[in-house]
Amino acid sequence: MSTVKEQLIENLIKKDKTSQRKITIVGVGAVGMACAICILMKDLTDELALIDVAEDRLKGEMMDLQHGSLFFHTPKIVSGKDYSVSANSKIIIITAGVRQKVGETRLALVQRNVDIMKSVIPALARHSPDCKMLIVSNPVDILTYVVWKLSGLPVTSVIGSGCNLDSARFRYLIGDKLGVHPTSCHGWIIGEHGDSSVPLWSGVNVAGVVLKSLDPQLGTDSEQDNWKNIHQQVVQGGYEVLRLKGYTSWAIGLSVTDLVGSMVKNLSRVHSVSTMAKGFYGIQEEIFLSIPCILSQNGISDIVKLNLSSEEEALFKKSADTLWNIQKDLVF
Ligand code: NAD
Repeated sequence: MSTVKEQLIENLIKKDKTSQRKITIVGVGAVGMACAICILMKDLTDELALIDVAEDRLKGEMMDLQHGSLFFHTPKIVSGKDYSVSANSKIIIITAGVRQKVGETRLALVQRNVDIMKSVIPALARHSPDCKMLIVSNPVDILTYVVWKLSGLPVTSVIGSGCNLDSARFRYLIGDKLGVHPTSCHGWIIGEHGDSSVPLWSGVNVAGVVLKSLDPQLGTDSEQDNWKNIHQQVVQGGYEVLRLKGYTSWAIGLSVTDLVGSMVKNLSRVHSVSTMAKGFYGIQEEIFLSIPCILSQNGISDIVKLNLSSEEEALFKKSADTLWNIQKDLVF
């Protein structure tokens, strides 16, 4: 007696149903699930795998997404505690870990999250030896270095979400001040994702009009219009959202999805993401910091050379020193 499925579907050609665009998200907390919903709504994957140590929450999140399947075009959503569920992923997004407590800096999280990376990264890399790993857990620059070391992947395949979010906050705030949509306000934040990030005021422009050419003091203490405060708001913005709602999720989920889109669609767009900074602007240590990188299906395919002012270069070096002072003592 044939089954209903056999009677309905005549499967003449056994098609290879292996996923070509599989994405795994490790950590189904606030950030992981914001990434998941944004990726699904943008149709960036044909198989989404979720991994977490919290089994009930993991199953609940998977089922909740599966029940929404009618409204997006991802045919397979799976989850598991076992890393084999991630096998053959093209992109693995790491959001596992503890988040900051109110008042805690990103850098203070470091050893707790390094220990989590030790427990997850080697198995993930074994199951998906050709994947790109996108690190979101904080402190993201140091953890991206740690993941690169633990995974054995090429340096171009391990990317920290870094200052992609800081640059988005920067452009939103510039746009808000000017009354122009952020997509038309161009500006970059580089360096550490966090307190020592560096705003590149020398390049901020709208339609090619460099704002510093209109006011050479822009972004400095001597200027009247308090543009410098925008960078303080970028740095404080994450802490403020954390204080108000207990976590940050939507902006990071959207910005990570933007990075995933550049890789899945091989777009070669430029993003300020965390990559190996040794050799740039006088940095001699193996540390990861955000600089504008071209992202494609190969991960980081190129790095854009910036013409930094001497002050910006000094701040970038300071950001590097801040991270190195913590990274050099890490045990993993
Ligand atoms: P959360 O506590 O809501 O979620 C973290 C999840 O990780 C939990 O579900 C937990 O069970 C899981 N987890 C812990 N250990 C694990 C392990 N060994 N294997 C698998 N899963 C594990 O935290 P959140 O708010 O989602 O934040 C996650 C991370 O993202 C934090 O480190 C946070 O600081 C960071 N973050 C980064 C940015 C950025 O711009 N880079 C922005 C926001 C948050």
